Amino acid sequence: MATSSADGDFLLSRRFVWVNGPVIVGAGPSGLAVAAGLKRHGVPFVILERSNCIASLWQNRTYDRLKLHLPKQFCQLPQLDFPADYPEYPSKRQFVQYLEAYARNFDINPHFNECVQSAAYDEVCRVWRVRSVRSHGEGEAVEYICQWLVVATGENAEAVVPEIQGLEDFDGEVIHACDYKSGESLRGKRVLVVGCGNSGMEIALDLYNNQAHPAMVVRSSVHVLPREVLGKSTFALAVWMLRLLPLWVVDKILLTLSWLIIGRLENYGIKRPSMGPLELKNAQGKTPVLDIGALEKIKSREIRIVPGIRKLSAGVVELVNGEKLKIEGVILATGYKSNVPAWLDGGSELFSENGVPKRAWWKGEYGLYAAGFTRRGLSGASADAVRISEDIARIWKDEVKQKKQRVTCHRRCISTF
Ligand SMILES: Cc1cc2nc3c(=O)[nH]c(=O)nc-3n(C[C@H](O)[C@H](O)[C@H](O)COP(=O)(O)OP(=O)(O)OC[C@H]3O[C@@H](n4cnc5c(N)ncnc54)[C@H](O)[C@@H]3O)c2cc1C
Repeated sequence: MATSSADGDFLLSRRFVWVNGPVIVGAGPSGLAVAAGLKRHGVPFVILERSNCIASLWQNRTYDRLKLHLPKQFCQLPQLDFPADYPEYPSKRQFVQYLEAYARNFDINPHFNECVQSAAYDEVCRVWRVRSVRSHGEGEAVEYICQWLVVATGENAEAVVPEIQGLEDFDGEVIHACDYKSGESLRGKRVLVVGCGNSGMEIALDLYNNQAHPAMVVRSSVHVLPREVLGKSTFALAVWMLRLLPLWVVDKILLTLSWLIIGRLENYGIKRPSMGPLELKNAQGKTPVLDIGALEKIKSREIRIVPGIRKLSAGVVELVNGEKLKIEGVILATGYKSNVPAWLDGGSELFSENGVPKRAWWKGEYGLYAAGFTRRGLSGASADAVRISEDIARIWKDEVKQKKQRVTCHRRCISTF
């Protein structure tokens, strides 16, 4: 590969660090779980985190009222259970406390404020070269050289902001869901929530609870399921049924139960997709919404459902059906994307163009791994972490053994002289 002048500058100013084990990029739940697994096997590692804390998505980029969407048994990381007194759906604060205890318990010390700018496999030296820049101090550039690279930067690394005609003319507050904390500052205001996934629904409910007047844009179809059926988690029920029945049957049962409990969504302006909820999740990664109360407010029209946006202008949104609504704020609950394509050079046999593994897979070539990209939330991240740490530990231990044998043999050779 030719060296550009930017590379030349970097050569002069960077510090090199040889890592006798993997470099893990990202100290969210996935990175921490891989690190804990490596600790268990005695494999050294370095973990790099661009922000100033662990689990920055949870600490800095989620709303205050957030609770885990899934019951706790599906969200705990390997080797350490949630405290016994945690509720069925721990709050964001409890989840963060658990993760902090997790990092302390396994003595995981990420390098904070260190953002990975690029990583490439050097085929000549057969190592990964991972370049990071420290965001504090003088912005020191560091190049880590390692044999294994674990990508744990998450499926939600960057906010997706859609193009909306006239957005720049709108004179109210426009924020992405990742910057929304609570509806307090929007009390009494007419707010448009764009997007109807779990975040959009919960933010609309939070706005309503803070005496704002939310309207929610529902452009495409979405599955909304009750979070619980007869006091039991719908998700847990689905997992249990999947052990006994084919997926399409489970989908039919889930839809029938939803219809009995929450009625026909179409009556409130929400279309259901033609594919069942689990089939859709498998095929397109679209997570069904687990309702925690927004639907009741939608039924009573206290949260209004509106179709897509045609354009925005000062204080007004024009909808695709020609209707115009006065609004004072916009929350973009329009999702997230991976940032892997921005910094990983190569690895295309594992990662697709949009930065997620091609076949929900966890291992690539040349010691490249992906943790937490299987669209299965925290339980998927935990499963990846166990496989990855065991795989690396196996190779690492073999290499250590071989090195020891070489040293012993070398000593024997010397002693025979
Ligand atoms: C609002 C919300 C609610 C959710 N609720 C649930 C739930 O209840 N249950 C569930 O199972 N899942 C839930 N999820 C999904 C959730 O994202 C994952 O479960 C979990 O956070 C994934 O962990 P992760 O470590 O893979 O990614 P993340 O938590 O996103 O962590 C990735 C880390 O990598 C860091 N990073 C990114 N790029 C770089 C870089 N270039 N250099 C260095 N560091 C970098 C980030 O700062 C971040 O700290 C929710 C997601 C959201 C957005």
